[in-house]
Amino acid sequence: MSQFQSIDVADYYDNETFERIKAFASDKVTPFVVIDTKIIAKQYDDMVQSFPFASVYYAVKANPAPEILSLLRDKGANFDIASIYELDMVMELGVSPERISYGNTIKKRKDVRAFYQRGVTMFASDSEADLRMIAEEAPGAKVYVRILTEGTETADWPLSRKFGCQNEMAYELLVLAKELGLKPYGLSFHVGSQQRDIGAWDAAIGKVKVIFDRLKEEHGIVLDMINMGGGFPANYIDKTNSLTTYAEQIIHFLKEDFGEQLPKIVLEPGRSLIANAGVLVSEVVLISRKSNTALERWVFTDVGKFSGLIETMDEAIKFPIYTEAQGELQPCVIAGPTCDSADIMYEQYSYGLPEELAIGDRLYWLTTGAYTTTYSAVCFNGFPPLQDYYL
Ligand SMILES: *Cc1c(COP(=O)(O)O)cnc(C)c1O
Repeated sequence: MSQFQSIDVADYYDNETFERIKAFASDKVTPFVVIDTKIIAKQYDDMVQSFPFASVYYAVKANPAPEILSLLRDKGANFDIASIYELDMVMELGVSPERISYGNTIKKRKDVRAFYQRGVTMFASDSEADLRMIAEEAPGAKVYVRILTEGTETADWPLSRKFGCQNEMAYELLVLAKELGLKPYGLSFHVGSQQRDIGAWDAAIGKVKVIFDRLKEEHGIVLDMINMGGGFPANYIDKTNSLTTYAEQIIHFLKEDFGEQLPKIVLEPGRSLIANAGVLVSEVVLISRKSNTALERWVFTDVGKFSGLIETMDEAIKFPIYTEAQGELQPCVIAGPTCDSADIMYEQYSYGLPEELAIGDRLYWLTTGAYTTTYSAVCFNGFPPLQDYYL
């Protein structure tokens, strides 16, 4: 028995899908990512089915390819937008402004003005300065305030510390919103991306409930909406519960706190809709050892931290890597092609790759549809940005 986990593609893709992706990939020059939009359509349907009462706002940053945006547009999705540039991408595809939320709490005055002029009326905030600016540039807009959440340790890619404010401040901001002539609309949180602990939603919903009640009792402010962000899982090496289990539990938490009459629920999935749909294909450039007796091989591949795999930072996201090479799995360090020593993907987490893996062989990085293409550097060391194809 090897100490390494071998990757069974069947845990991630059905055979027909993977063969289709592989056949498409066979004559393309590496590295590139192939994204099967059928999988995205299915994951979107699963999300809607799991949370039938919720409005889904796709977090555009996960992958803003027009193929994906138009698919989700046609399926009736809404869009969570973080910049004026993302707004352009989505509106160019004919999405109307009522389907858009400006979800970034860090924004320039001129951008708030532009969003408002283009008809967007829902804004996130988590600070007084931002809220006052919204009141000036987008008078009467609906605002929701983002709260801080716990769960940083159980999310593979935490987002929790940078955004949001303490409960007391969220409460005060919503009171201020009303004074400033805005519509205090709701509360939001993000429990951290690829959140493995479903209990993180329980804690966040509990906090939201307290603020809902206090605003109503003390100020007569009735909030309409809870935005539960993203954090839903994709399939990486570390297993998670299924989306169905997440949904059952989270709906239970909501009903425990809010009863049967739930406020309007917004979800902002990014990773969970897109990641599973992508396979990144790379080629082994070099295999070496650091001494004649070193047990560990270094496997250098033509994709790295600067060409789409930034989520391997601190080895946070462990992508399943499949290769057709045979043989016993042996320990290796996996690194990218650039002249930067940060460009090592996995060194602590010991991936086993087959003994017979050779220079020129292909590596298939599964579950790479989200947070890869746009994270890729434009020209570091002269390497072009990661190529993407959509099926
Ligand atoms: C990135 C982001 C999301 C998407 O999170 P996932 O974990 O990828 O689903 C949702 N909401 C906001 C505000 C975000 O910044």
